[in-house]
Amino acid sequence: MEETAEFVASRLEEWGIEVERGVGKTGVVGILRGQVPGPTIAIRVDMDALPIQEENTHDFVSMYPGKMHACGHDGHIAMGLGAAKLLAQARQDLAGTAVLIFQPGEEGQGGAPAMIADGVLRRHKVKAFVAGHLGVLSPELASGQVGISFRSLMAAVTTFQARVIGKGGHGAQPQDAIDPIVISAEVIGAWQRLISREIPPLEPAVLTIGQIHGGSSHNIIPNEVFLQGTIRYFRPAVGKLLLARLEEVLAGTCRSWKAGYRFETDQAYPPLVNDPSFTQFFSEVAVELAGRQNVQMLEFPLMVSEDASFFLDKVPGTYFLLGAGDPATSYPHHHPRFDLDESVLWLGAALLAGTARRFKSREK
Ligand SMILES: [Zn+2]
Ligand SMILES: [Zn+2]
Repeated sequence: MEETAEFVASRLEEWGIEVERGVGKTGVVGILRGQVPGPTIAIRVDMDALPIQEENTHDFVSMYPGKMHACGHDGHIAMGLGAAKLLAQARQDLAGTAVLIFQPGEEGQGGAPAMIADGVLRRHKVKAFVAGHLGVLSPELASGQVGISFRSLMAAVTTFQARVIGKGGHGAQPQDAIDPIVISAEVIGAWQRLISREIPPLEPAVLTIGQIHGGSSHNIIPNEVFLQGTIRYFRPAVGKLLLARLEEVLAGTCRSWKAGYRFETDQAYPPLVNDPSFTQFFSEVAVELAGRQNVQMLEFPLMVSEDASFFLDKVPGTYFLLGAGDPATSYPHHHPRFDLDESVLWLGAALLAGTARRFKSREK
């Protein structure tokens, strides 16, 4: 991450852009002041990779074992640098200031709130925000198409972890033990029924248990089992209900089978909500750059989450999607063979730079 941040900072400096390093730990901020005074717009791209061993074989695969860009954030860095270069080359036409935010830790490490806490919006008096995601997140977008949403585009997320605490023993003498593996199986089944039985059918909500650890051999009943999962939703009331019921169901099931439990929640992301008026402005920029046939009003929001929502909670703006692959045949995001259609990168850079360049003219 430090090397990536330094690479980005050096390129920006090379193009005559003022740079702040170490914002929110390893974030980099480029500040481009136009010739004419005007409002400040923030362009944000995320930079982080994922703990996945890359299985692609092309000649630019990850050089680091167990780490790869499986979400396309390397493409985001390219888009952000492209936008910076375009804006730097046409500085004389820029009215106001463009603040380029290169953010670490989007994949659950709280990079956005850390950069906000470090003053990136306040210090530069940011009035609007634009960012986007490349790839195959929406089945509605072909490669090179821009996806737009006037309201909520992505879900809120809360991560939780639980321990089912039993009593270890011999696998052949379960009567002397309290088996946390059998109890965990029951807990997971019951948790899934919260979605189908307690959430209204037209209310989007997802529950996934992504980790379960327990036991060391076929004939040993372990002391405890660790579970970790995620819930996704749009309305805060749904999140609150799910969290309360997750713990109640865990507590009740554990009590029935004489086990103990722990339940904790981690940092949550709010839903990602676009500003309708700024989004209208952005859609006009997108039509101009990509052509009307390549700009899609998305019918469905996504259940994935994105910490750009923290920025959009503070300043109006928009978060768009840019199709970079065929959603029907591509490997999904976070897969060891995830890959991008690089031929759309120019459009990503142009959308970010074009929005910043036209922003002043929108302000009355
Ligand atoms: Zn991701
Ligand atoms: Zn991502």
